[in-house]
Amino acid sequence: MRYLKSVLLSSALLFTATAFAADELVVYSARNEQLIKPLFDAYTKETGTEIKFITDKEGPLLERLKAEGANTPADMLITVDAGNLWLAAKEGVLAGVNSKVLKANIPVHLRDPDNRWFGLSVRARTIVYSTVRVKPADLSTYEALGDAQWKGRLCLRTSKKVYNQSLVAMMIARQGEAKTEKIVKSWVANLATDVFPDDTQLMEAILAGQCDVGIVNTYYFGRLEKKQPGLPLALYWPNQKDRGVHVNVSGAGITAHAQHRAAAVKFLEWLSSEKAQNLFADENLEYPANPKVKPHASVAAWGQFKQDTINVSQAGSLQVKAVMLMDRAGYK
Ligand code: FE
Repeated sequence: MRYLKSVLLSSALLFTATAFAADELVVYSARNEQLIKPLFDAYTKETGTEIKFITDKEGPLLERLKAEGANTPADMLITVDAGNLWLAAKEGVLAGVNSKVLKANIPVHLRDPDNRWFGLSVRARTIVYSTVRVKPADLSTYEALGDAQWKGRLCLRTSKKVYNQSLVAMMIARQGEAKTEKIVKSWVANLATDVFPDDTQLMEAILAGQCDVGIVNTYYFGRLEKKQPGLPLALYWPNQKDRGVHVNVSGAGITAHAQHRAAAVKFLEWLSSEKAQNLFADENLEYPANPKVKPHASVAAWGQFKQDTINVSQAGSLQVKAVMLMDRAGYK
């Protein structure tokens, strides 16, 4: 009798263990381990769902998903920039998710109109300026950086970076190609020096006096500010009287061949929730995508701003046009 009881007990345990193992997820992530591991650990602690993951650059991850096809072990893709999310959806590696939770938590302009991906954090690409040589009253819009007063004073990052391709794509969406091309040409004419490979080097050039203004993602400013508190640079929120600041997202979608689709949807919903949003955004000094969640104090200190609410998927659909336009305008 005693023997029978213990057999029953252990088979019950075995059953539990199997049920548990079924809730396992595989994530491919273009965000690095330092940013995503704390999230995964928090989720595992709360739900018991184990999360396996690999990290790589967005391009190789997309190629891998395409090559693996139906055999992919990945349930979810996490990547940065709406242009990359849009491309992943276009290449057919993501499947739509019809979730009331996601629709309630993520504003409509920060997600795919076909629900194949959802923005989970917001990254603002805005103007940065020298507080020594520029008064904020001199600034107004992205377009105005092409005005004569900025001749030889503007620094830009390379047009090869998807962030600038997305920025220009959204300008095309808002004001058409002809006007956007004129603006980009006026920026190029105002450049103080060659374009930079990254946002941090651009800000260092402003600090070094090579130029006075530039355009950067706010979290790079946040990182530099952390290293050099009180640095003579500040962020400016342009276009507050019209469309607002250009924003982009980092986000995620469920793969088309997910083997743990239900569990992956649950995890994606959790990522959009109030308790996970700070974990997703704060470590990289980004803004939560869920408007009910406040940003980290050091991010909130940069002030509130109106963001452009055009759907970020246009960063993808107009990317090719943006790249060709920047090429025509001589923006290297
Ligand atoms: Fe970045």
